[in-house]
Amino acid sequence: MHPLPLYLGGEWRIGRGAPLETRNPHDNSLLAEVSTADTADVAEAVSCAERAMADPAWRNLLPHQRALYLQRIAALIERDAERLAQLQRQDNGKPIHETRALVASAIGTFRYFAAACETLGGEITPPRGDYLSMSVYEPLGPIAAITPWNSPIASEAQKIAPALAAGNAVIVKPSELTPLLALELAKLADEAGLPKGLLSVLPGTGAITGAALVAHPGIRKVTFTGGTVTGRAIGRVAADKLMPVSLELGGKSPNIVCADADLAQAINGVLFGIFSSQGQSCIAGSRIFVARAIYDRFVAELVRRTEALRIGNPADTATQIGPLISRDHRAKVQGYVKLAQEEGGRILCGGAVPDDAGLEAGNYFQPALIDGLTNSCRTAREEIFGPVGVLLPFDDEDDLIAQANDSVYGLACGIWTADYRRAWRIARAVDAGTVWINTYKLFSIATPFGGNKESGMGREKALDGLRAYMRQKSVYWDLSGRPLPWAN
Ligand code: NAD
Repeated sequence: MHPLPLYLGGEWRIGRGAPLETRNPHDNSLLAEVSTADTADVAEAVSCAERAMADPAWRNLLPHQRALYLQRIAALIERDAERLAQLQRQDNGKPIHETRALVASAIGTFRYFAAACETLGGEITPPRGDYLSMSVYEPLGPIAAITPWNSPIASEAQKIAPALAAGNAVIVKPSELTPLLALELAKLADEAGLPKGLLSVLPGTGAITGAALVAHPGIRKVTFTGGTVTGRAIGRVAADKLMPVSLELGGKSPNIVCADADLAQAINGVLFGIFSSQGQSCIAGSRIFVARAIYDRFVAELVRRTEALRIGNPADTATQIGPLISRDHRAKVQGYVKLAQEEGGRILCGGAVPDDAGLEAGNYFQPALIDGLTNSCRTAREEIFGPVGVLLPFDDEDDLIAQANDSVYGLACGIWTADYRRAWRIARAVDAGTVWINTYKLFSIATPFGGNKESGMGREKALDGLRAYMRQKSVYWDLSGRPLPWAN
């Protein structure tokens, strides 16, 4: 098998880094060998990006003309939607209904930023004399977009679309575990006629390809989604370069069930919040706070429903729980279940490798619920990034808010209650970038997304998500014709 080429400066070629393998989490079969970029490839991609941005064929395009490229890319993703969803299911292991939704989200993202790009204006600022003063937006320069493995195509679209809409070139470094969808996006951008050099896709490891991109002086912004440790390392390099950086990082989000909640809805929301995507989700509702008055009843039903979740091949449309991304990751998740026991927790269900026929070769793991821990235990504080929910009772609202906010993370929060005043009070008191009331994991591209505290810096999506790829220029324009006062 020859390694798949990477996409550098509008050309498909074999990268100079060591090839990497990508495997299907369902059975660990080899999907593809992919060539990777070394530091010389990174430098070349940055030069191509700079040239492409300086070329009048791109630089002089008006926003509505740039928008056409995004619309064409959206149409091509839509044409290939089922193929892309099936490929992502193989590369990442998410159930097919989830990968279809991620492809649909990528289409919507390109369309949204095409529309936003056409309609976003600059500002005329109030003058304090006989002049016109304006604030206009310009592209930042070549952007590095570094993405994780858990939501390929949606993550990449969320960075590529606004970066291009703002007039930048963008170099994508997808996760080494899931490089295939970013390469497919490059094929579609190529087919859409995007001028060469505006998009490069450079698979590789974080240590080599990612680090080289972040450090390169020609990269003017890094947009990163991934773990907090990596985000902090990128932030340090960005500080030295005085380069803007946007960081979408980890989480340990509270999902709160009040005593007056519609319990049927809340159970569905809690299950979906922690177990969809096998819990491999930055916004997973992994700390499940339940009012003590309903705790025993709620937990008994939640356990029953968790045990009934359908684990299986992600190709099967009935599957709810697919495999984890890798054997290494499964070992890490399982290590947390063991830690929970050492910390005094009770495993109420799951937490082991299933012995179902047909799943032996994959990275499957039974969804687990744990109680008997406190919010100060490591199991309740650290991001597990797997199907493991920690159940925590609370007594009253003050106790709840104190516990919910007692975390280094601040990404998301769910609240289940019938009392709109309580919902509002908790929503305002919780330190999180997104709050869902009587729902969970609901998203709109028109609404900003991002984290507080160690969950990140900056916001993606929405109009501010487009401005984040631009810098402002102030223009003062004299209308009086009078010389400045000190001139003779
Ligand atoms: P990760 O931090 O290990 O890797 C993310 C990306 O960074 C990969 O492409 C990796 O190769 C690259 N990378 C690693 N070291 C680097 C370095 N020194 N310089 C540059 N790039 C480097 O994260 P992961 O395991 O791929 O993803 C899981 C994490 O992502 C979880 O913590 C999850 O919460 C987070 N995440 C956050 C969001 C969000 O929007 N907040 C969304 C999805 C995932």
